[in-house]
Amino acid sequence: MATYDYDLITIGAGSGGVRASRMSAGYGARAAVVENSRFGGTCVMRGCVPKKLLVYGSQFADEFEDARGFGWTTGEPAFDWSQLIANKNRELDRLEEVYRRMLRESGVTMIEGTGLLADPHTVEVEGRAMTAEHILLAAGGWPTMPDIPGIEHVITSNEALDLEHLPARLVIVGGGYIAVEFAGIFNALGVEVTEILRADTILRGFDEDMRLALAEEMRKRGVNLLCESVVRGIEKENGAYSLRLAGGDVVEADLVMYATGRAPRTKGLGLEAAGVELDGKGAVVVDEFSRTSQPNILAIGDITDRLNLTPVAIAKGQALAETLFNSNPTTADLTGVPTAVFSQPPLATVGLSEDEARGQFADVDVYLSRFRPMKHTLSGRDEMCVMKLVVDAESDRVLGCHMVGMDAAEIIQGLGVALKCGATKAQFDATVGIHPTAAEEFVTMRGKRPAHAARKAG
Ligand code: NDP
Repeated sequence: MATYDYDLITIGAGSGGVRASRMSAGYGARAAVVENSRFGGTCVMRGCVPKKLLVYGSQFADEFEDARGFGWTTGEPAFDWSQLIANKNRELDRLEEVYRRMLRESGVTMIEGTGLLADPHTVEVEGRAMTAEHILLAAGGWPTMPDIPGIEHVITSNEALDLEHLPARLVIVGGGYIAVEFAGIFNALGVEVTEILRADTILRGFDEDMRLALAEEMRKRGVNLLCESVVRGIEKENGAYSLRLAGGDVVEADLVMYATGRAPRTKGLGLEAAGVELDGKGAVVVDEFSRTSQPNILAIGDITDRLNLTPVAIAKGQALAETLFNSNPTTADLTGVPTAVFSQPPLATVGLSEDEARGQFADVDVYLSRFRPMKHTLSGRDEMCVMKLVVDAESDRVLGCHMVGMDAAEIIQGLGVALKCGATKAQFDATVGIHPTAAEEFVTMRGKRPAHAARKAG
């Protein structure tokens, strides 16, 4: 029998790779993880964590304004971007050290450098070869941009998290999670934000009522949403940028950020040499046990381009360690995964959108509630909260819960458990609310939206 240097070598020390390595080592595997950037990966170093810290930072603008309605007199608040960035970076340094310590204490060997496959059992890092029985690809994803003239002038979310100064005018291209979240951050911090997207509104794939509700709130806050618009080229002149749109219009900006999706990081990993199959979009093809076309090579996280969410990569990493090193074949169940967009206000969702439900069930009931959050009766802020339940009329099972409004992510997480348990609308109704909260609306919605009601008017 062949002997290998390791039982498992993981390429990529992001959320998924770290979880898989640590758990495998915990089950006695000789595990190593290779990383060519910072330990912690996209979520911790360039994504969820720094983004959320900036969301918190930007929300104080609202708090200062809203406080007046509650009797507070505040002086003119002053904001120091460089201090926020320095504090955020200090926290990232701390988290990286936490990740390194967790790996060290779990007995995982950390290897710094770029790993590539020389053959199905060999990983080369800067010319040094090491072998493993199993190899895990967890190298994540990277921003992609269309190939248009002037694209070299733009930044991505990677750079937006570390700007030296706030621009006066920012254009963000894209209508997905990242574009919407960064539009909220910079708009709240006083930057004039224009978001350019090619679809009719933001967040394709989310429930239509939520998309429209959030777009309306963003506009109220001053984000200039240019929908059904395509950028043909970008020109730089005197330190500013002109974006030429398909219809001939020109939009001026001091900084341009592209958030037009992310692609799996498969280039340069030697996947062809190892016989690992990729799909048409360059993602590693895997089965339910995260096995690639080369059975001893596995892949999890954004490199597989399924649900590109940190908790999903972690769940897959955990299942993989169970399967390989604990004699307990496990697949992570990816149905009913809740998700949130940390927009301002936030949007969160679990289960099916109304359109998805209508495509799968013959008779769908919809409950929609739109109200002014209690806080804003005194703050005076013109912001609405919108909640929606999508129900299978035949079985009474709740198929989807959606919300745009304060604390949406915190509320929807709990409802994710209810949906996982197959809760019915009758069970939602039988649950006593916590008063006074916004969340109680989810258990007190009684009036079905009439089937003929025009959704766009909702
Ligand atoms: P998304 O896939 O969410 O959105 C990409 C956006 O770019 C869409 O609006 C898309 O338009 C648009 N787009 C794509 N190609 C072009 C093009 N050539 N020209 C103009 N527009 C284009 O990607 P993001 O970059 O926002 O985020 C990547 C992933 O990261 C997300 O899907 C999510 O999984 C994850 N993420 C999760 C977060 C969270 O959980 N809170 C936060 C941030 C990211 P169209 O809709 O028309 O295709």
